[in-house]
Amino acid sequence: MKFIYIILGSMAFIALTNANGGIDKSRLPIGDGKVSNKPMVGYVWPCQTNGFGTRREHSGPWLRDDGTYDFANKPAAAGEVLWPSDMHIETQGLERTVTGNLLPNHPTGIFPKSTTDPTYQYAPNPHPIKAREILMRLPTTPVLAEHASCVPMGAVGIMLSGAALFNGLDANGQDAVAHEIQDKCQGHPERNGTYHYHNLSTCLKDGNNSNEHSALVGYAFDGFGVYGHRGEGGKELVSADLDACHGHTHEIMWDGQRKRMYHYHATWEYPYTVGCYRGTPERLARPVDARSQR
Ligand SMILES: [Zn+2]
Ligand SMILES: [Zn+2]
Repeated sequence: MKFIYIILGSMAFIALTNANGGIDKSRLPIGDGKVSNKPMVGYVWPCQTNGFGTRREHSGPWLRDDGTYDFANKPAAAGEVLWPSDMHIETQGLERTVTGNLLPNHPTGIFPKSTTDPTYQYAPNPHPIKAREILMRLPTTPVLAEHASCVPMGAVGIMLSGAALFNGLDANGQDAVAHEIQDKCQGHPERNGTYHYHNLSTCLKDGNNSNEHSALVGYAFDGFGVYGHRGEGGKELVSADLDACHGHTHEIMWDGQRKRMYHYHATWEYPYTVGCYRGTPERLARPVDARSQR
């Protein structure tokens, strides 16, 4: 029995790390099936599962039969389109007001995709990227709720690039980073035109020093911060290092001060970011169509 456990342990090790001990981005475990109805480490707890298993499954040669996928060599949507990104974060007392248009401050791929885009065959994505006016009021000192809660399908937070962060699932309920085709910054528009990521975009900086804890990269809609891949001492985190909602508590930089508090982390491993909310989410704040705002 002991022997079997050792083998299983080392298989998990091979799947996530390379010879240097870093995360091997060419062999990330596919997160399919890790969907729960309660807080569970390494899972997403979505508020609704309508359509799961009935929508188009995106796949391609970067997905392997051994349960891993090649993030490093997965094809990306073509193009380098610049956008008038607009995001303002105003922090005053107990409230942080985030306004913006959800357009990113980095180039995106061309959407709708051209038939000449090599990734068109895997996912045509007929939706154009659209500005989506948002207004969020988040607590500056969020507190842990008595119970964790589910995350919506759609935006679970906003990143400092100005774009939306969605949970780790696609509309079919599968690992979105593994299955869907995104652009070079791992973003793409959904059917209303909202440009979003399902992981920490490689186009966002998460700090300068790889020996230190990552910098803040965004805010979850319960007000808690989302930080990059590295925990204390610069260790690249995996799901097992974090709680069921993909966060933990220790001293971090928060609004310019050192403070011991809860925060989420991005990981290379599914569920990539927020798996459930530990705070109280701002449910009312969802993208408002620019036209209906006028
Ligand atoms: Zn998506
Ligand atoms: Zn941390």
